Amino acid sequence: MAIWDEQHETIDRERLQELQLRRVRDMLARVYERVPFYREQLSAVGFEPGDLTSLDDLAGLPFTDKTDFRDNYPYGLFAVPMSEVVEIHSSSGTTGKAVVGGYTRADLESWTELVCRLAVAVGAHDGDIAQIAFGYGMFTGGFGLHYGLQRAGVAVLPISAGNTARQLQYMKDFGTTILIATPSYALYIGEVLQRREVPVEQLRLRLGMFGAEHCSEEMRAQIESRLPIRGTDNYGLTELTGPGVAGECECRTGMHISEDHFLAECLDPATGKPVADGEVGELVVTAFTRECSPVLRYRTRDLTSLTRERCACGRTTARMGKVVGRTDDMFIISGVNIFPSAIESVLFQIEGVEPFYQIVLGRTNGLDTFEVHVEVTDTLFDGWMDDLRAFERRVTEELRSALLVRPKVKLVEPGKLERSEGKARRVIDNRPS
Ligand SMILES: [Zn+2]
Repeated sequence: MAIWDEQHETIDRERLQELQLRRVRDMLARVYERVPFYREQLSAVGFEPGDLTSLDDLAGLPFTDKTDFRDNYPYGLFAVPMSEVVEIHSSSGTTGKAVVGGYTRADLESWTELVCRLAVAVGAHDGDIAQIAFGYGMFTGGFGLHYGLQRAGVAVLPISAGNTARQLQYMKDFGTTILIATPSYALYIGEVLQRREVPVEQLRLRLGMFGAEHCSEEMRAQIESRLPIRGTDNYGLTELTGPGVAGECECRTGMHISEDHFLAECLDPATGKPVADGEVGELVVTAFTRECSPVLRYRTRDLTSLTRERCACGRTTARMGKVVGRTDDMFIISGVNIFPSAIESVLFQIEGVEPFYQIVLGRTNGLDTFEVHVEVTDTLFDGWMDDLRAFERRVTEELRSALLVRPKVKLVEPGKLERSEGKARRVIDNRPS
């Protein structure tokens, strides 16, 4: 199992913490001097550069969240003059103003290195051909993977998202070995492949690198049953640089965090206090090496757990588990908190269910309505009506027992629900706010 940057990926914890402390202190001095937002935030808690004498002191410093990015749109959080910026990315900004991140030459160099680590960790190497079916453009995914994979020696096909017929054509003709996509899009590509009855022997595909949305083990299994690949998960956010924050190694037992660039905390979202390793909490990340867009204690809203146990691959870095939900995608029905991921994990374990579903929330006569639309297999859908009704009751019952709330389940024919070429929209909330 190859390791790209032995020095940093297998560093011992004591030396890592010294390095983190030095770098975080340096970052705090920079943002205090150059970013008015951070100077105000830090001054408000009586902090001055130099006050941080141990990493534990970080717990007393303020958080940054998405609102802060929006309030300082577009360049208010930049810590360098525009003359030093060579690239700018932003999130889609579907709800409110976009999140903007800038990169100096040194930032692009680090980003390339970080993504290269991910690629090498899952077994990418020279001779591989990677089809990047992430959207290029302002989204960080396309360019991030592009830079990093090239550094790992991989030939890149910058096909971008969409046009699934062309994706399959290129995959076959160009001998693609690695597919880069959101899990939802990988699943859809797999579905089209099966429907067109393209023999998998015609493909050289062997590896998938998924990102930009959470990928449960059940989802991964669904993708692997449709495409001849071993799927791997990695993690990143526009707020923190894009892909390259963390990624699985070949062991697939959690995502290694590049701790020489990112300091990860796992906190109880309600109290802001740390939870123990192995327990689920909100991931909070300080991105301390970025020149243009350093971020102090960013509240990702992603719920996961951390472990610092040594991994069989030899890396010593902390690993984050699967993202099990987001503090902001949870919805409340009849007073019960529900995560879409919990619904997914029930559905994907039921034989006869296709891995496409949608959650529709509404309100009738002052009462919340909760529907789960689920695609079923051809065989089931074309079979006896009685069987279909019995199956619907079974799906309803399994969801009720896991969620403690009874949804109205609607079975729909295969291919009926919206397919995604990027991040899937799982929840449609029609309730008046
Ligand atoms: Zn590992």
